[in-house]
Amino acid sequence: MDIYFFNTLTKSKDKFEPLNKEEIRMYSCGPTVYKDASIGNMRTYIMNDIIRRTIKYNGYKIKHVMNITDVGHLVSDADEGEDKMLKSAREMQKSPYEIATYYTKLFMEDLAKLNVETPEVVCKATEHIEDMIKYVQKLLENGYAYETSTAIYFDVSKLDEYGILSGIKLEDQKAGARVDIDQEKRNPYDFALWIKAKPNHIMKWESPWGLSYPGWHIECSAMGQKYLGEQFDIHTGGIDLIPTHHENEIAQSKGACGKIPAKYWIHGEYLLINGGKMSKSLNNVYLLKDITQKGYDPLTYRLFTFSSSYRTKLNFTWEAIDASQKALDKLRAGYQKHLEGDFDVQEEEIAKYEDAFHKAINDDLNMPLAMSVVWDVIKNPNKSKKFAKLLDKFDTVLALSLNKKSNNKADKIPDEVIRLAEERKIARDNKNWSESDRLRDEILALGYSIKDSKDGYELHR
Ligand code: AMP
Ligand code: ZN
Repeated sequence: MDIYFFNTLTKSKDKFEPLNKEEIRMYSCGPTVYKDASIGNMRTYIMNDIIRRTIKYNGYKIKHVMNITDVGHLVSDADEGEDKMLKSAREMQKSPYEIATYYTKLFMEDLAKLNVETPEVVCKATEHIEDMIKYVQKLLENGYAYETSTAIYFDVSKLDEYGILSGIKLEDQKAGARVDIDQEKRNPYDFALWIKAKPNHIMKWESPWGLSYPGWHIECSAMGQKYLGEQFDIHTGGIDLIPTHHENEIAQSKGACGKIPAKYWIHGEYLLINGGKMSKSLNNVYLLKDITQKGYDPLTYRLFTFSSSYRTKLNFTWEAIDASQKALDKLRAGYQKHLEGDFDVQEEEIAKYEDAFHKAINDDLNMPLAMSVVWDVIKNPNKSKKFAKLLDKFDTVLALSLNKKSNNKADKIPDEVIRLAEERKIARDNKNWSESDRLRDEILALGYSIKDSKDGYELHR
């Protein structure tokens, strides 16, 4: 069955035609590891995961690469501002390497909790400095870059076209819409490939241009090419990466080898909070642990993201998370009912559902439609092991752990809540009512109510 993806490059839903059917090659821009990853970031990584699982569902093998930006990049997406990693290192009084290791670990743990598969290659920028230097040298040799007293810049005027992803027009920019702070730059849109380090800059490396460090965009071009070749199938990221980071990756690749690095560019829309942007720099982020600490299964969040297309904005609310938890419980209970059933379902009926699910995911990852098929199977009154098996197949894409039994209370209530409830029981036994009330408030803050019973207590979400 054909797969269709909305391609930012062509601005249309394109039929997926692999460059090499033996193995699909995909690159995803990874996190900048100077702060916790938000559930907004996680929406994009769940999208990546659905893409790779859909590709595998269609019988392909995949080689997926994700970078870890551990050299930081500047505070704004342009070249100005303080380096994010260094800012965080200064604030936390740790070395940039310690910061990066710490946040990378947390990030990978969150991915695992969300059943996001680890890409075949996870590569750190700091371990690819030599590859990046070679890439910059190639751009200089090919006449697409120039050196100033502060940096090596990419000369966008050397390209026949710049701005194909986002539709930026260089002529409009030349009219002066943007303040250009570096007088040595030839064009306002020229961006830094490599930056000469000031004496107090911490992360810097020996290079043909003295002690210096990479610009933000070069790592993805260098690592993408190293692991996937000059041109690969799919490149992904959040929508914010289109106008600067991905545009510049395309520019670099055209300068180095004359090719657009990927055939299909897939971008995920933003997760919003209260209708507005959720971002690290605005400091209004929720983390996955904020969800799990309230007693929700982390996969509740994964299911929540299936409620809309990855191409539309999604607004986060606690009511929606609560509804997703209830839905997840129902899905798992429904799965168990099928597992215990013996109805002899006709193969045609199974095939009909399978086909509808397959069409939905292949149609630009239409998860709301795919979920409606899942619900139809769950709600089918004829309980059958064959349906459970079909749901197992769907779950290779959904990754909601549908076969998990969740009607077990201990499964759902986090240890922390149980510990507080036990402490409260002791306080009550000792008739320490004020402590008991304080603990009840703490339990409430974690999203649980506690009711005393003859045998102790009952916890409810
Ligand atoms: P960062 O670590 O900030 O470089 O972001 C990692 C990934 O998350 C990038 O692909 C971003 O485009 C994406 N991203 C950042 N904020 C959001 C958000 N609120 N919703 C969805 N994706 C996001
Ligand atoms: Zn990137």
